[in-house]
Amino acid sequence: MNIHEYQAKEILKAYGAPVAAGVPLTDAADAEAAAKSLPGPLYVVKSQIHAGGRGKGKFKELGPDAKGGVRLAKSVDEVKANVEEMLGRTLVTKQTGEAGKVVNRLYIEDGADIARELYLSLLVDRSVGRVAFVASTEGGMDIETVAHDTPEKIVTVAIDPDTGVTEADAGQLCEALELQGEARADGMKLFPILYKAFCEKDMSLLEINPLIVLKDGHLRVLDAKVSFDGNSLFRHEDMVALRDLTEEDEKEIEASKHGLAYVALEGNIGCMVNGAGLAMATMDIIKLYGAEPANFLDVGGGASKEKVTAAFKIITADPNVKGILINIFGGIMRCDVIAEGVIAAVKEVGLQVPLVVRLEGTRVAEGKKLISESGLNVIAADDLDDAAQKIVKAVKG
Ligand code: ADP
Ligand code: MG
Repeated sequence: MNIHEYQAKEILKAYGAPVAAGVPLTDAADAEAAAKSLPGPLYVVKSQIHAGGRGKGKFKELGPDAKGGVRLAKSVDEVKANVEEMLGRTLVTKQTGEAGKVVNRLYIEDGADIARELYLSLLVDRSVGRVAFVASTEGGMDIETVAHDTPEKIVTVAIDPDTGVTEADAGQLCEALELQGEARADGMKLFPILYKAFCEKDMSLLEINPLIVLKDGHLRVLDAKVSFDGNSLFRHEDMVALRDLTEEDEKEIEASKHGLAYVALEGNIGCMVNGAGLAMATMDIIKLYGAEPANFLDVGGGASKEKVTAAFKIITADPNVKGILINIFGGIMRCDVIAEGVIAAVKEVGLQVPLVVRLEGTRVAEGKKLISESGLNVIAADDLDDAAQKIVKAVKG
């Protein structure tokens, strides 16, 4: 689950991280009061969408010469004018895709006098099984490019969970970021704070790009991106409350209501599979035969008829889906239950595209019999390879 920059900053501020004053708004009428509550004379108007690259982004409606999704303003009037221009417009950035995202919320923040822009993030480093800091002096820009062209400029410091951030770890990060004087003292305090927030809130990513050194020598968190581990949300009601459904894929929201693991993708073959491993294999084999999956969907080990029906509806509601492949291995899951779910769903929502079903495992004979007697126009398949070839052929015509 992702949250907005202003929400991430509120969390970090509560932990004691240096964050500027700012006010979120969704109504242009609030712009003047928001700006007047800040010290000035420099303000920043920041688009709040769940995507990065806002500064270099372009508003669809405003043409290529208009300013981007993060704008400096030198007076209250300039703040107002920018708010009017940005709110409700569609911002296209490197991360939004061509469709862009509608900016429903802006964050008016105190402007900073920036001396240096640094990169700092925390993530779960699976190769060492630890939370790690990633630091670079090359902040503010596309970190992927830095990692690709000049990997020596990126330093990783993995943290021992038994000790937390030690003086030595913090010192190493200060070296990596070339922090001296006040900035170094701020850094020594900031790193343990970020690590604590990351662990306590079960974050999967905390990215600060840029972390800045101000002209007065102090550090400040200027941008913040936070993602939470979805599997931990049951114990973080306060974080779940920060969820902004308008930023999420409708099909993914619907799927999460039914406890389905669903990720929307770009292709045109809808997949319904049980088990994440089998789902990955199914997507791979679709690609092998020259087509692209429209989604990842794992109905889980013990799915009910209702769950299967919900999954089928989500897949068929996607206009990109030109064919469906159901690939079930009945272990805990019984093939006849899947068959019943599919038949019920097709009766309810209809079937406009080819459907290939491959069933194997517990009660497979009963499952196949149910489908063949249902009168539905289903293409039966014997194994995964056969199923993939049949659906790709059906879709490609
Ligand atoms: P994004 O990463 O989505 O482009 P950022 O929050 O990193 O958005 O902002 C982009 C750039 O805008 C920053 O690298 C910084 O140069 C500038 N900027 C952002 N917030 C402020 C601020 N409060 N004061 C001054 N400059 C800012
Ligand atoms: Mg940024």
